[in-house]
Amino acid sequence: MSVTYKVGAGLYVNVTNRCTNCCEFCIRRYGEGVGSADSLWLEREPSKEEILGEIEASGLTQYSELVFCGYGEPLERFDDVVWVCHALRQTHKIPIRINTNGQSDLICGRETPPELAGIVDVISISLNAPDARTYAKLCSPVFGERTFDAVMKFAADCIRYIPKVILSVVDVIDDEQIARCRALAEGIGAEFRVRSLLTSGSGPTE
Ligand code: SF4
Repeated sequence: MSVTYKVGAGLYVNVTNRCTNCCEFCIRRYGEGVGSADSLWLEREPSKEEILGEIEASGLTQYSELVFCGYGEPLERFDDVVWVCHALRQTHKIPIRINTNGQSDLICGRETPPELAGIVDVISISLNAPDARTYAKLCSPVFGERTFDAVMKFAADCIRYIPKVILSVVDVIDDEQIARCRALAEGIGAEFRVRSLLTSGSGPTE
């Protein structure tokens, strides 16, 4: 079981296998691990202290960034991720990125972006679709069709608290839908990225 693993020059952190989506294109349907990881399926979730310990034992100075990614949705453990980031900020300057499905407001039942201010440098949010209906069909979120609007609100709020906000889609949707997603991202001042299903998988891995 891998809690931390290397992808390129980044150190990735796998805090949970839970997720509030069940995306058609999720790489978890196709394999067990990525990068240097053997298996990203966790026998149990590590405590926040164990996560911090593994990160600090990894020799952070050799990495260009730290990425909370998972083989699942890292912000299912929002409070623990925030705790680890605050602890790391005391002693390390490494840039911190979170890859998320953007549903932490729904998960936590409160507005979460303000709590990421000062501890997260980049947030990459999987937008996946240009509207609520397409999103629900593609991602089967446990929160239903209201999820898409909540993800967009989360993304717009993140612009105020996090230096770099990226919205992404996987290239399983058509060009017209991708163009609409790009317009949504640009409309809130976020960057936009199209990821390849075949070369990089999706969601929890990049
Ligand atoms: S791609 Fe991401 S959001 Fe979708 S099911 Fe997989 S981990 Fe969850």
